[in-house]
Amino acid sequence: MTGVSKDISFRDRPINMDERGGRKWVYAKKPKGRWYTRRTIFSWFLLLFFIGAPFIKINGNSFILLDIASRKFIIFGAIFWAQDAFILSLLMLSFVLFIVLFTVTFGRLWCGWACPQTIFLEMVFRKIEYLIEGDYKKQHKLNNGPWTAEKIVKKLAKHSVFVFISIAMTNVFLLWFMGPEKWFEMASEPISENLSGFLIMLGVSGVFYWIYSFFREQICTMVCPYGRMQGVLLDSKSIIVTYDYKRGEPRGAKRDGDCIDCRQCVSVCPTGIDIRNGTQLECINCTACVDQCNSVMRTIGKDEGLIRLDSEDGIKHGHSTIWNVRNKAYSVVLLILFSFFIYTLLSRPAIETTILRTPGLLYQENADNTISNVYNVKIVNKTHDKMPLELHLISPKGEIKMAGSTMAINDQSMYESTFILFIPRSELKSDNTEVVFGIYSNDKLIETYKTSFVSP
Ligand code: SF4
Ligand code: SF4
Repeated sequence: MTGVSKDISFRDRPINMDERGGRKWVYAKKPKGRWYTRRTIFSWFLLLFFIGAPFIKINGNSFILLDIASRKFIIFGAIFWAQDAFILSLLMLSFVLFIVLFTVTFGRLWCGWACPQTIFLEMVFRKIEYLIEGDYKKQHKLNNGPWTAEKIVKKLAKHSVFVFISIAMTNVFLLWFMGPEKWFEMASEPISENLSGFLIMLGVSGVFYWIYSFFREQICTMVCPYGRMQGVLLDSKSIIVTYDYKRGEPRGAKRDGDCIDCRQCVSVCPTGIDIRNGTQLECINCTACVDQCNSVMRTIGKDEGLIRLDSEDGIKHGHSTIWNVRNKAYSVVLLILFSFFIYTLLSRPAIETTILRTPGLLYQENADNTISNVYNVKIVNKTHDKMPLELHLISPKGEIKMAGSTMAINDQSMYESTFILFIPRSELKSDNTEVVFGIYSNDKLIETYKTSFVSP
């Protein structure tokens, strides 16, 4: 990049750190403008989804549930069990590839517009801060002033609301992991009955409170691994928030460039950087500086877009396209991967059976000239209907003895039991015979399962 400031001291250390490694608090001016309004409306939808998704039911079934304890995941109404790890990994891979494709094409737009960290920090906590403590200059004055009654009241009010929201956030996350029914059941019980769960909830809330009150933008600038990947994902064709140095330089009120060096774009930046220094890891593409610079351009009677969403090639050559070889290749791979995921999802069996000999038990020789083996059976009903199931031995001849021959499994549930299989000696040709079970529902064979039977 040519024509930019010769001062490159910003490369020495993160912008929110002083020469001695201490924290430099970022006081961000409240953004205002077209892009900020769009971002606010978009964040309302995301927050609504975050809070409302666990309550959405489709035909009485959850829309979202990440039940780690039962190893049962419902994502957009589709249920995945531990046995579906392969299908789930295809979905995860598709998601990761989508993020890569999105980043190659649109840079860190996800961070500024959809990442929960930014949504909560910029659209919830910071807005409350503006409301209670005022804009950035007032906040600076308040933080650096003496502990007056006004300061105590404002700080108390702000931190009380922050604590309340942190607890509420943790509980919404709990709804995602345990479902509203279990959450309400737990919440109505005395705390002493779920003391460890309650303490964990308080601990997580404490971490949220600390992040949004003190640690803040450092999550994006120093901790988030996705942010660190930008260096390899972005290229000169990626659309990012960028400064048109060809138009802006040489900067200054009495110079030829359009940039009047008012530093308004810096004052509004939530990570405290100066976008005129070029693409930086700390930029989360929130577009606050775009709005701020557009407002300055309008005031001085120049065209908007000195800072805009564009690629480096777009700035250099005056034209840009979102397509390049990399994102075309990623799109093809993503399409293949996602199609394979949909195919495996739609073609997976309605039930998933596992029958294994009970560990530690060998075989038993019985007086009626039969040999018996003990098995554990586990059947997962992946459908949204209750299923009456029966287990029969298809080959060789023999008899199953289990408590009740009919197994009714509720929708999205798992059945577990133990049974004994008796096979006459005459049917056994070796010490390890293959046995085939049939799982029937309403007299219809829906799955067969092969395993081994040991004998002398
Ligand atoms: S807001 Fe615009 S004019 Fe002001 S310093 Fe930033 S780029 Fe230059
Ligand atoms: S440089 Fe602009 S887009 Fe990037 S984080 Fe700062 S304000 Fe947001």
